[in-house]
Amino acid sequence: MKDYLVKALVYGGAVRAYAVNATATVAEAQRRHDTWNTASAALGRSLVGGLLLGATVKGEDKMTVKIQGDGPAGAIIIDSNGKGDVKGYVQNPHINLPLNEKGKIDVRGAVGTNGVFTVIKDLGLKEPFSGQTPIVSGELGEDFTYYLAVSEQVPSAVGLSVLVDTDDSIKTAGGFMLQVMPGASEEIIETLEECLKDLPNVSSLLDEGKSPEDILAVIFGEEPIQFLEELPVQFNCECSKEKFSTAILTLGTSEIQAMIDEDHGAEAVCSFCGEKYHFDEAELNGLIEEITGGKK
Ligand code: ZN
Repeated sequence: MKDYLVKALVYGGAVRAYAVNATATVAEAQRRHDTWNTASAALGRSLVGGLLLGATVKGEDKMTVKIQGDGPAGAIIIDSNGKGDVKGYVQNPHINLPLNEKGKIDVRGAVGTNGVFTVIKDLGLKEPFSGQTPIVSGELGEDFTYYLAVSEQVPSAVGLSVLVDTDDSIKTAGGFMLQVMPGASEEIIETLEECLKDLPNVSSLLDEGKSPEDILAVIFGEEPIQFLEELPVQFNCECSKEKFSTAILTLGTSEIQAMIDEDHGAEAVCSFCGEKYHFDEAELNGLIEEITGGKK
């Protein structure tokens, strides 16, 4: 099944609902970064959260989520946009902690419980929008929820869920986000809380073969759901050798000459996708010539 996200309205538009199956997207990130169990769940949940937040902006608009906790995983950085693209990495991918007291993957242990949750939105305006909240849970779903409530003043519920297989690969990954629009009645909010009380994990629902539409149906029961849009989602990094050439150029001639003399080449690794770009001596000499205009 292909990864996609659905956008919907419920309770006559008083609640915006989003659900996503991001299994292949998170699986690709896991393979590219060789994340271990706990780091896979932490990065996977963050990628799902990035996709859900990304679904609230227009196509070309971009968003970055930075989760900087005090846990062993270090920083988690996610880039997404309104077109369903996402990429991201965790600073320390090789984190494998014992299960927590509930027998679940200890995402909080990897992320930490102190730190900063930052969202930067580039909406094509002069200045990017930036909002910041403290990390309140470390389990990440609650941290996205807290950010939305406090920084964007949108009462929300966010569920992020990743099922990691015994070989560290991703079995399923997905999530949902519900946003209460201004003017929604107290009754709707109470009903919503009731709906979410005994909700099974999204990753388990996906494991049973349920679709994003089915997930919203599980949440809202008999309530009619007005589906607005289906958006394919995917891991996508737009890095290229060209972009890294530009980055190397900014280092200047003496730095590039040192790469030639000491290493007889250079290798650049994209931190977002793990792609490696090799530059041999001739290519590095070419870059020096670009700076000096051929004069040594
Ligand atoms: Zn890349």
